[in-house]
Amino acid sequence: MDIKSRIREIENFPKEGINFKDITTLLKDSDYFKYSVDKMVADLKDKNIDYVVGPEARGFLMGAAVAYALGVGFIPVRKPGKLPAATANIEYELEYGVDSLEIHVDAIEEGHKIAIVDDLLATGGTVQAVAKLIERLGGKVEAMEFLIELEFLNGRDKLSEYHINSLVKY
Ligand code: 5GP
Repeated sequence: MDIKSRIREIENFPKEGINFKDITTLLKDSDYFKYSVDKMVADLKDKNIDYVVGPEARGFLMGAAVAYALGVGFIPVRKPGKLPAATANIEYELEYGVDSLEIHVDAIEEGHKIAIVDDLLATGGTVQAVAKLIERLGGKVEAMEFLIELEFLNGRDKLSEYHINSLVKY
């Protein structure tokens, strides 16, 4: 199956010069959605994963489906102020400025094996911050799964210590 055929490209979104990869067209196609989730699950099957962690917002969509299919629980990572209980927070650099992400402090315990799932790997800044949050709580990042990898941004370079699987590359 040609996953790229179900990814819609939108020129100049969210700003001038960016060619946005829209995954809503893939999620809407039941065969392709299932195929994509199953590919990630196949890569994770032998890794004894305890939990899937997914960052807001598209990481929720792919991550929760992968967790369900793998038979493990799902843990959300969110923008500040969204999670109700006590949180751990991490700041990370964007192209211009900083952003931050939060996770519930009691979501992960020492030694838990974690798979991070998101829709797209670009510079790797988001997933690197998520990995640091998990590790701060004692979790071990066993794998990172992405639908899409933008290879020209070299996100893998800053993530060389991790197992990375992406289903399609641009
Ligand atoms: P990074 O931190 O690797 O530079 O950016 C990855 C994050 O930005 C992901 O959470 C992803 O959802 C979002 N993102 C950046 N560009 C795109 C894009 O073209 N399409 C989609 N669907 N998400 C994007």
